[in-house]
Amino acid sequence: MRVAITGAAGFVGSHLTDRFLADGHQVIGLDNFITGQAENLAHLAGNPKFRFVQRDVSDPFTVDGALDGVLHFASPASPPDYQKFPLETLKVGAQGTANGLELARSRGAKFFLASTSEVYGDPTVHPQPETYWGYVNSVGERSMYDEAKRFAEATTMAYHRSYGVDTRIVRIFNTYGPRMRPRDGRVVSNFIVQALMGEPLTVYGHGRQTRSFCYVSDLVEGIYRLFHSDRSDPTNVGNPGEFTMLELAALVLELTGSKSALEHRPMPADDPKQRKPDITVAKSVLHWEPSVPLRDGLVRTIEYFRKVVAGGC
Ligand code: NAD
Ligand code: UDP
Repeated sequence: MRVAITGAAGFVGSHLTDRFLADGHQVIGLDNFITGQAENLAHLAGNPKFRFVQRDVSDPFTVDGALDGVLHFASPASPPDYQKFPLETLKVGAQGTANGLELARSRGAKFFLASTSEVYGDPTVHPQPETYWGYVNSVGERSMYDEAKRFAEATTMAYHRSYGVDTRIVRIFNTYGPRMRPRDGRVVSNFIVQALMGEPLTVYGHGRQTRSFCYVSDLVEGIYRLFHSDRSDPTNVGNPGEFTMLELAALVLELTGSKSALEHRPMPADDPKQRKPDITVAKSVLHWEPSVPLRDGLVRTIEYFRKVVAGGC
């Protein structure tokens, strides 16, 4: 196969690129580096099956040659990132998604959308199944991301229903691992880097809000299986293991051996109080479930960030 992956220089996009290449496929990676890192693709230099194109996919774009898939992963994803780039985030969810769909449609390729658990907003149903419609503030401080992804899902379904484009939608729950930017502002990267640098761990609010953390190799396997499945309805992929931010902080301190203190900061507006995927569909349709417990994934991620911190970040 020959696939185009937008957001290939990002955290998830770079691991997904590796997964397709490992199976012998060709990948054209597109990215404008708004939140990505060239280092995430440095190991692919000289790989004849990989080509990189620096491009803003919110502007119309095309790719030479035949294509079997267009996987749209481009979008700022960390709350501080999408709040710093609100219009770019809305645009890549709206216009970027439409551009990817047009490319897929013109080549008879499959289109795959990276959506998010944020479409459920601050959920009133727990855990969250795909059938839950969500509880989202359309004008709040996370709305540029949540509404962009909801619009992206709607656009994807419209191309599927109107033009028969073969589409997939994954709803990704909080994922972590090597190649996150050390200061991207997400909780796992923040806590690990703070612990390794001897800085206080910044716990927002009381720290009893929950998230369910998925290690990146598990996520990529779920995405790969969904791509190859025939399911066009949205599908949750995440790890149902649910932790408070205080529990996460304690685990990071234990595994790094850090003596950092906890420093409570104000709770960001509209911060979801709880989040946990219902993965019944992924289990039955994709025969997938995560295999890396939080403790093991954190050990691998800490190992990565030790090198990053040693190199200066
Ligand atoms: P990331 O910020 O590391 O990667 C996103 C990549 O997209 C970056 O390399 C960035 O430069 C690129 N990009 C953004 N706008 C672009 C544009 N207009 N043109 C070209 N490239 C552009 O984030 P990530 O965690 O790797 O997330 C990847 C995708 O997965 C995103 O769509 C995100 O919404 C989704 N997602 C991720 C998570 C998670 O926990 N990591 C959770 C839910 C959804
Ligand atoms: N969070 C925190 N300290 C940080 C960064 C985040 O306590 O330094 C909290 C944040 O308020 C949220 C949770 O951790 O409740 C997960 O935040 P993240 O930005 O990683 O993901 P999201 O909110 O998008 O799920």
